[in-house]
Parts: sequence; C-alpha cells; structure tokens
Amino acid sequence: MTATVERIESWLVDVPTIRPHKLSMTTMGCQTLVIVRITRSDGICGIGEATTIGGLSYGVESPEAIQSAITHYFTPLLRGQPTDNLNALTARINSAIKGNTFAKSAIETALLDAQGKALGLPVSTLLGGALNTVLPVLWTLASGNTDNDIAEGQRLLDEGRHRAFKLKIGARELETDLRHTRAIVEALGDRASIRVDVNQAWDATSAARGCRELAAMGVDLIEQPVSAEDNAALIRLSQRIETAILADESVASHFDGYRLAQQGFNGAYALKIAKAGGPASVLKLAHVAQAAGIGLYGGTMLEGTVGTVASLHAWSTLPLQWGTEMFGPLLLKDDIVSLPLSFTDGCVALPQAPGLGVELDEEKLQFYARKQRE
Ligand SMILES: [Mg+2]
Repeated sequence: MTATVERIESWLVDVPTIRPHKLSMTTMGCQTLVIVRITRSDGICGIGEATTIGGLSYGVESPEAIQSAITHYFTPLLRGQPTDNLNALTARINSAIKGNTFAKSAIETALLDAQGKALGLPVSTLLGGALNTVLPVLWTLASGNTDNDIAEGQRLLDEGRHRAFKLKIGARELETDLRHTRAIVEALGDRASIRVDVNQAWDATSAARGCRELAAMGVDLIEQPVSAEDNAALIRLSQRIETAILADESVASHFDGYRLAQQGFNGAYALKIAKAGGPASVLKLAHVAQAAGIGLYGGTMLEGTVGTVASLHAWSTLPLQWGTEMFGPLLLKDDIVSLPLSFTDGCVALPQAPGLGVELDEEKLQFYARKQRE
C-alpha cells in the first residue's frame, strides 16, 4: 500500500553567525532556518529547510510567514496524500498555492528525502543522477573591512579550504567599493578567483562604470549589479562587459530564465532551490539556461546544512561552469545535523546515503528552536 503524508512539523531555528555578515541591504548576526519534517504513514520521515536572508530585507517571505504558510496551507493540502509521486504532489501544491517558493522548496525537499529513504537512493539519483559527487564551493568575504577580508582570504587559501571568493559590495560609495575590490584582487587575485555581488545596489549609470572597472581589474564574475526591476540594464551589461554578468534576484523560475534569455541576456544564472520551489523544480530553470547557452552557478540563501545538501543534490546533476557558493553551514556557529558536511580543497563532498544523507540532531534542534510564545 502506498504511504501517505501523516504529519508535517516545522521549527524556526535561530543560529548565530561566526561574524557579522555585511550585505548591501542588511548586516546579519544570526540566521533563522525554517526546518520542516514530514512523517509518512509508513514511519519514514523526510526533512527540508526554507531559509531566507535577513528577515524581509532580501526577499518577500519572512521565516515566520514561511512557517505559517506551511502550518495553515501546505499541511491541510498534503495530509493523507500518497507520497510516491512527486510530480502529482507538486502539481497539487502549485494549483492551490501561488508564490511561496521558499516554503515549497522545504516541502519538496522533505518529500524527496523521504522518498529517497523509502527507495534506498540518494536524492541526486531521484533527480536523474549525479555528474559530480564533489563540488567546488567559494567563500564570501563580507566583514565590511578590507584588511580583515584580505586576512580572512589569505588564511582560507593557506588552509586550502577555498579557491574562489565573492565580495559583497554595493552598500558604500562606488569609489570606496572599487578601491576595496582592487585591494583584494591585488592581494589574492593570483591565487584565487575573485567575484563580486552588488545585490541590485547600483543604478544603470553607476553599473556601467562600475562593471567596466571591475572587468579591467580582473574580477571574474559580477553578480546582480542592477535592480531586478531593470532587466534592460542587466541585459545591456551582459552584452557589453567582458566579465560575465550573473543574474540572481532577476531570475527565480524557469519562466524568468526563458524571458531573460529571449531578451538577449548572455551571462550566467544563480540557481537557488528557494527561488524556484525546490531541488526538482530548480532543474527546469537550469535546463532552460542550458538550452540558451547561459552558464550555471549553484547559489545559496545562506541555508544551514539541510538546505545546503538539498541544493547540492540538485547541483550535482548539472554541469556548473561557475561552481557553487554552498558555504552556508560554515557561516554558522553551530549545526543542527548529527554529521556536518566536510569542506576541503575548495570543495564539498555530496553525501551518498539514501535521501539527503543528513539527519537532524534532535538536541541541537530543540536548543536553537525558537520557543513559541505563551
Ligand atoms: Mg546574490
């Protein structure tokens, strides 16, 4: 008999970061993970994670809203449904619930994890099979201080943990950001690939100048220099700047990816399971990009280990020209899984056990889980 969805639990889990993480729109000192567990009628459990950046300063879903949507909308929709057909479940969810891609991603992940455990297969195999089981991972230098960033980058290069760095710029004056980037390229650029993420901060004129200078100083990839509302500027930059332009906030679903490609964008796409609705759903965008000759990059919402592993299963099935940024667990002071991922030689290894291949540490989960108000 087919197992059905019996119970869906969720927790808001607040984990402090190892240092303040400075982005163009906010500075993070803590990350809130929304952890989901689906229990099936055969006793098999699947876990998933929905994590956004900086409350509502980055995206349209807050952790609290994600949890509320799961409790009040996803749970009644899924309870009692057969669990062995992910396409049917996804169609059911998408016909009843608009948007809410973070919550959809956590649910899709948990369903895949449970199905993988039931079949004895890793999630990557359910997604068609891994091309690579070891994936490159960059690190983001975002302390807000040039000297500290250089010292941090040098230490990580010496330790062999990363070979590529992304700088978060855009919060300060253009000149200050360019000076900061140039100093880091000069200090680390012959040992590492240096990329920048502007997180939509520049207007079209600043972006034209900024991107020209970044290209000239040897930056390898420029992420979302302009607002997601100004795709015309993003497309122009991708056609005129020699350094590749990475679309992040501009592209969430395969519909966005198709439109941007059709309008002449020719850079790369930052794939994120939370933007697309899950590790299976995100592959539609990846395949549109591949057909359009657009490069692929495995992006993060700074998820903890559960969301990071879910993403890695999806990324492992793709040829990623630009690698991944799945370093989220390393930014957190602690982990809520029993066996954390291992990051060495600029890469992370994809777990091979059935499902996601990671398990929750119940004690840690309860320790960091936000206590419900009386
Ligand atoms: Mg980004």
